[in-house]
Amino acid sequence: MTQQFTTPKKDLNWAELGFQYRPTEFRFRALHRNGQWSDGELITDNMISVHEGAPALHYAQQCFEGLKAQTAPDGRVLLFRPELNAERMRQAAERLLMPQVPEALFIRGVEEAVRANYAWIPPHGSGAALYIRPMLIGVGENLGLKTAKEFEFRVFVSPVGPYYKSAGLAVISLAVSDLDRAAPAGTGNYKIGANYAGGLLATRLAQELGANEALFLDARERRYIDEAGSANIVVAMRDGSFVTPGSNAVLPSVTRRSIMTLAEQELGMKIEQRAIDLRKEIDQFEEVAACGTAAVISPVGKIYIDGQWHSFYGEGEQAGPVMQKLYNLLVGIQRGELEDKFGWTHEVKA
Ligand SMILES: *Cc1c(COP(=O)(O)O)cnc(C)c1O
Repeated sequence: MTQQFTTPKKDLNWAELGFQYRPTEFRFRALHRNGQWSDGELITDNMISVHEGAPALHYAQQCFEGLKAQTAPDGRVLLFRPELNAERMRQAAERLLMPQVPEALFIRGVEEAVRANYAWIPPHGSGAALYIRPMLIGVGENLGLKTAKEFEFRVFVSPVGPYYKSAGLAVISLAVSDLDRAAPAGTGNYKIGANYAGGLLATRLAQELGANEALFLDARERRYIDEAGSANIVVAMRDGSFVTPGSNAVLPSVTRRSIMTLAEQELGMKIEQRAIDLRKEIDQFEEVAACGTAAVISPVGKIYIDGQWHSFYGEGEQAGPVMQKLYNLLVGIQRGELEDKFGWTHEVKA
């Protein structure tokens, strides 16, 4: 007999959850001091006390991750490709001269935080998920611009609903930003805090135009699609190909990489990763979507560029068939409803 989770669930209105922080009982913490990681432990305090000179606070020496735990119909708790998040955090740490979080520690931290907060994992069929936020920050006494001497790896979790307001396949809109997100040889391909503060104004300006998010073009020529503020872009072209930007200034989204595989293997589409010249190719777009752990697959109904809106769908704004199929496949696998052909799910055992 395998062990079962026995903790009763919290009495929450799961279907009403938005994408907001909700405190849960436990978080995992490991400390790196004198060149060595501590074993790590579960703690209850959701505050972090750090030195006022901590490099994470002044020079953004920090990185983070985002993934979800979902409940399968048979009650199993599933993560989605967590080893790719571990790998991405490893790359970010290397780029920012931080100690790497070994994959075993990363996965154990995630599993322990999920297991300890079992009561907060939304039940199957609720449409909600447990969002998991691993982070690595440079702490300790400091003043000058140099790497921290101490680091904290922390994993906290929060039950969440959809990132964009309406449930299921919410159609969103994007406005091309006049601001740049990431330089060609900068840090846009790492999930590090330094990339995001500068995007807050871009998001604000996009929202003033009535869009959900900013769409960033490449910083060198301002022609090619990079990505949205917190989601990659995929496009189903009129010629039947399925395309995503080839830019190395975008975050290598786990969701996007999975969707590309599904488009090729399950829908038999020709997939391409290449530069997409937005103004030249927009008339060839059949369907566009933003994708990520938080956004899942959000069809893009319209894009604002050069003073006007380009719409991809008619009134009523429903998702097109390609994005709808990909959404059903992806979410079906993540929630343990469909066969996991690719071995993407990772069970957190009781
Ligand atoms: C996290 C993130 C994504 C989505 O990546 P996933 O691994 O699919 O969650 C896309 N773009 C940016 C800028 C992000 O920060």
